[in-house]
Amino acid sequence: MEPDRATIWPYDERGEPGRFSYARYAHPAGVAAEERLGALEGGDALLYSSGMAAETAVLLAFARPGASVALAEGAYWGTAVMMRDLARWGLELVEYDQTKPAPASDIVWVEAPANPVLTLPDWEALRAHPGLVVCDATISTPVYLRALDEGADVVVHSATKYLCGHHDALLGATVTRDPAMTARLLELRGRIGSQAAPDAAASLLRGIETLDERMARITSTAKELARRLAAHPSVRRVRYPGFAGVISFDVVDPRAVETRTRLIVNATSLGGETSTIESRHRWEGDRIPVGLLRLSVGLGDVDELWDDLEQALATA
Ligand code: PLP
Repeated sequence: MEPDRATIWPYDERGEPGRFSYARYAHPAGVAAEERLGALEGGDALLYSSGMAAETAVLLAFARPGASVALAEGAYWGTAVMMRDLARWGLELVEYDQTKPAPASDIVWVEAPANPVLTLPDWEALRAHPGLVVCDATISTPVYLRALDEGADVVVHSATKYLCGHHDALLGATVTRDPAMTARLLELRGRIGSQAAPDAAASLLRGIETLDERMARITSTAKELARRLAAHPSVRRVRYPGFAGVISFDVVDPRAVETRTRLIVNATSLGGETSTIESRHRWEGDRIPVGLLRLSVGLGDVDELWDDLEQALATA
């Protein structure tokens, strides 16, 4: 369905703004998609122009100059880069092993699972941490994790990935259960202008309709591919958390493998119906193993995907 793309709505007969007045604050497709996502997460969702815009809004809303952030090691590279950039504003960043208790900090930022090293956070330790707990649940989606139930104060998503699911929309989200936090984020989003586009919100509504089915199929294919990869002589190590579609595996020459796949697209990003593969070293440098390939399994046939991987690995 076509979303309402208006940026203005008339005031009422008394000259008062109604539910919608100016799209930077709220628009119909955004509110409809926020209600659907909020229901899945068990909280109040807000949408942003990208996952990074959602993350930045969380920091601008809840961090003060001099605030310390303990970020999961091996979490999305762009998150670490953005946080390092905010050092100019007094943000102190430490990276820590999220499988262990977090160091003392104002904010603990975990990723469940971390992209691309696929570790999972220690929820018991997080529940005992006095700081604000933010969980990036992009790879889990609410199908496999309701992070607010686990103890997170704020959930963030790159909805660009599985939630929209077709590599054709850029979108971010936050979800909280605390009305004051949601109000603060809403106020800030309107002020800084990081509202999502109506078309991206409509893409989320479409994506949520098929989310369960897509995640079930992607998981079953990824489990099988992870099993076959682990048995392949050219693969040195496989990381797979057992759900969703991201598999990281190490080979000697990742460029040789990624440039030889045919069905699996050699491109960045993850979570779409099309499978993608890339060497993360080109972006992240020595932060991750040189030979690490991140495969995002899509909706293709398991045997066809395996044939493609096998022929690419054979030439490596
Ligand atoms: N969080 C994770 C786990 C991601 O993988 C990404 C993007 O790759 C982001 C956040 C940033 O999202 P976006 O690209 O929608 O800004």
